[in-house]
Amino acid sequence: MEPQRTRGLFSAFAAVQNPGVLTRAASPAPSATVQKILGQATQYNGLEVDMFGLGNADSILVTSWNGSSVPSRTLIDGGNVGDGEKILKKLAALKVTRIDHLVCSHPHDDHAGGLLAILGNKNIKIGGLWMHLPWNHIDYARLSESLARANQTKIAGIVTASLKTQQEMVGEANARGIPIFEPFQGTKIGPLFVCGPSSAFYEDLLKDFEDLEKLNAFQTALAEYDAKVEARDLAAKLFDSTGEDDGELGAGPTDPENESSLILYAAHGAQKLLFTGDAGVKALTAATAAYDLRNLDWMQIPHHGSRRNLNMELVDLFRPKIAFVSAVGSTKHPRRKVVNASKAVKSTVYSTHHPSCTDLHHWYGNVPARAGYKPATPL
Ligand SMILES: [Zn+2]
Repeated sequence: MEPQRTRGLFSAFAAVQNPGVLTRAASPAPSATVQKILGQATQYNGLEVDMFGLGNADSILVTSWNGSSVPSRTLIDGGNVGDGEKILKKLAALKVTRIDHLVCSHPHDDHAGGLLAILGNKNIKIGGLWMHLPWNHIDYARLSESLARANQTKIAGIVTASLKTQQEMVGEANARGIPIFEPFQGTKIGPLFVCGPSSAFYEDLLKDFEDLEKLNAFQTALAEYDAKVEARDLAAKLFDSTGEDDGELGAGPTDPENESSLILYAAHGAQKLLFTGDAGVKALTAATAAYDLRNLDWMQIPHHGSRRNLNMELVDLFRPKIAFVSAVGSTKHPRRKVVNASKAVKSTVYSTHHPSCTDLHHWYGNVPARAGYKPATPL
């Protein structure tokens, strides 16, 4: 289901704020009795989210039951290279033999790396691969030249690695005859709707890589911000016994490839969910300008809880009842500042690191019972 467009549709706002419906969102784990009844049902109608525990890496399974006994499965990202096999085992444990939509949010190692192993495993059927193909949008020769000249910088190394991963994914998909689709704002991917990036936004980000001077300027800004934050964090550790970091949310830049992350919306009845990858303030603000993403029921906190990717305005707008974050549990991921800001708007926050590395599951509607799961512990 498509979210409400915000442009010129202000009269639609009242409908999405119906509090009588939204209260169903914070569904606790069903009681044993309810689980038994659900387990006996052969037809389901609901939406499930599984966020796999992989440290600072993403792999999220979205299962949509639409009044049938066969669901539609979408897998967003595949973690790092070494996570591919782990994810295949987790999918096997969930009896998943078919992924209708395999989605790459953006080409960084911790999201795309493991997708290669999944694409290469013939035991799992894959309906289609959704990913950006940068060479369709830019002067590829100019980009290659710019990257070659800037190859000693960290950012050029990351972009070069991303291009290699993207080419390998296309190679694997072609070898198996899996169709590839490019997702942009307005595209539907099974139960998901793409709120961002738009093709124009994506192409603007790519232009930054084509231009060597812009690439270098970005690298300098990133390094300066990192140095400033590291110094401040160190000072905070030395002089502030409370350990509360004082950095502003959303103050620093995030990598342009993070900003190219798919921002995906799903709905079950009146429940609204948002998947954010590693999108930053710029990308999320653009998505909220196009669609009504206020007062969510469930949301992925972007970029493993980094404080660069959300500002207070966005936290205040999204206000998810439940927030999941995929994080290793360090001082940076998830940032205490981000978790506290989310709690301040009454979100219940769960992280894949807490209390120890774990898979998180949440659902709306009638879905099959899960054996071996217990209520998760919020942060
Ligand atoms: Zn990431």
